[in-house]
Amino acid sequence: MYDVLIIGCGIVGSAVAYELSKYQLSVGILEKYNDVANGATKANSAILHAGYDPHPGTDMARLNTLGIKLAKEICEKLDVERRECPSFVLAFSEEEMKTVQTLYERGIANGVNVRILNGDEVREIEPEISKEVVGALYSEDSAIVDPWGYAIAMAEVAVTNGVVLHRENKVRAIKKVGDIFRVSTNRDVYEARYIINAAGANAPQINAMVGDTTLQPRNLSGQYYVLDKAEGKRVNSVIFCCPNKDGKGVLVSPTVHGNMIVGPDAFEVFDSETVATDAVTLPALKPKAHRSVPGINFREIIHEYAGVRPNTQFDEFYIKELETCPHFIALAGIKSPGLSAAPAIALDAIKLLKKAGLNMTKKVNYVDSRRVVRFRKMNDEQRRALIARNPLYGRIICRCESVTEGEIVDAINRPIVPFSVDAIKRRCNTGMGRCQGGFCGPRVHEILARELGMSPIDIMMDENKTFILTGRTKEDKKK
Ligand SMILES: Cc1cc2nc3c(=O)[nH]c(=O)nc-3n(C[C@H](O)[C@H](O)[C@H](O)COP(=O)(O)OP(=O)(O)OC[C@H]3O[C@@H](n4cnc5c(N)ncnc54)[C@H](O)[C@@H]3O)c2cc1C
Repeated sequence: MYDVLIIGCGIVGSAVAYELSKYQLSVGILEKYNDVANGATKANSAILHAGYDPHPGTDMARLNTLGIKLAKEICEKLDVERRECPSFVLAFSEEEMKTVQTLYERGIANGVNVRILNGDEVREIEPEISKEVVGALYSEDSAIVDPWGYAIAMAEVAVTNGVVLHRENKVRAIKKVGDIFRVSTNRDVYEARYIINAAGANAPQINAMVGDTTLQPRNLSGQYYVLDKAEGKRVNSVIFCCPNKDGKGVLVSPTVHGNMIVGPDAFEVFDSETVATDAVTLPALKPKAHRSVPGINFREIIHEYAGVRPNTQFDEFYIKELETCPHFIALAGIKSPGLSAAPAIALDAIKLLKKAGLNMTKKVNYVDSRRVVRFRKMNDEQRRALIARNPLYGRIICRCESVTEGEIVDAINRPIVPFSVDAIKRRCNTGMGRCQGGFCGPRVHEILARELGMSPIDIMMDENKTFILTGRTKEDKKK
């Protein structure tokens, strides 16, 4: 029996697990996928928003501005890639300058460092921005982050500190018997005294399992292009257009991995798993991005992706202990700026657990650090020393991103073992370059099979049943 069971291990579930693992509690996580951070957390704009967008006085505003401060500390402690990156909201007309003025006032009320610039001032900072731009809101409080790396880091530290992660456990039903929750998944039944619902876009369905049918899911998909590093330095800021009712519009942004992303649009889709890109929606991003940054070279596209925002009918996050089901804490409707707000949402969850009667005492021995070898970021001297220590760091597996065999083996030996080629990608950047894994994919596959002692046929591309091999290898037949 767990004291607390967290449902879902995206950025929110990971942040809650990370905070809870500081206390003398037994904590479990149930995650339906075979890896953490595989929902909205792996497919978003990766921006730690400055906090001028949410309405003052809302939870979103409070949690966004606190969340990005906490993110800075956590990313430093846990060695997560994060970069300060100013942001603009562009105005193309005097009408849009009114929106800029509104965002400026919200920013001031939310305690954000914001300024209004005229068109020339904008282009002085970002010369690639269109000459049609008449002005913009500007803030230096924003940053960009490796979103899945951020969640993986917090989840890993939670596991290091005793949290138990149950992957491939999709919650199907929850029953409350006396004070105990019985949670049934496709694999087992788990018991807990308290539940945290951090199931992202599926959070309304999880709430409904305990009788709270307040939330109506509104799954809004957003599609993106990823451009090669050749375009990665065209802009050095996050460039938004004026927001509309569906979000912040099409943005142009550098990534911490050195690429450029362009997107997202907003289309309602059937469920949170509808993450396909399509040949009609995606190309429509190009003219919108060109309007802001005319020079973008779309011949440099190397990848596309889509993510589904965990929206509901409410403009606010839905963070509360359910009145109709005590000891059940809902962290639902965590749309943007959920990535920015996540560590602050976790602190709210802790407060709600305490208020609901959970006895919480801090651990004495708690590990709150983590370091990752990144060969591509090292100078020659550091590389030589590393290879002298372990020759596996001298074998480049991913040429585009300069990822070594040593880093892949490190990732496999970390507290949350990756079982798929894409899980290695999320930890080491293999396959994220121009060739998109054409060269390194089979090698990563081979290393995974070797290190995990598994048949290559059982190594997946990503989720369960995403087979890479469909026949048995000669080696396999010999076994
Ligand atoms: C297109 C787009 C752009 C965005 N851009 C930004 C941005 O730039 N900045 C920002 O701050 N925010 C952004 N967001 C919002 C941000 O991505 C989300 O707020 C955040 O990722 C939500 O995290 P989560 O952990 O709640 O959800 P998720 O990451 O979706 O995690 C939920 C987890 O629950 C699991 N789960 C679901 N159902 C079950 C079940 N029945 N049993 C077990 N497990 C289950 C899922 O597998 C998943 O791993 C964006 C979102 C999208 C989609």
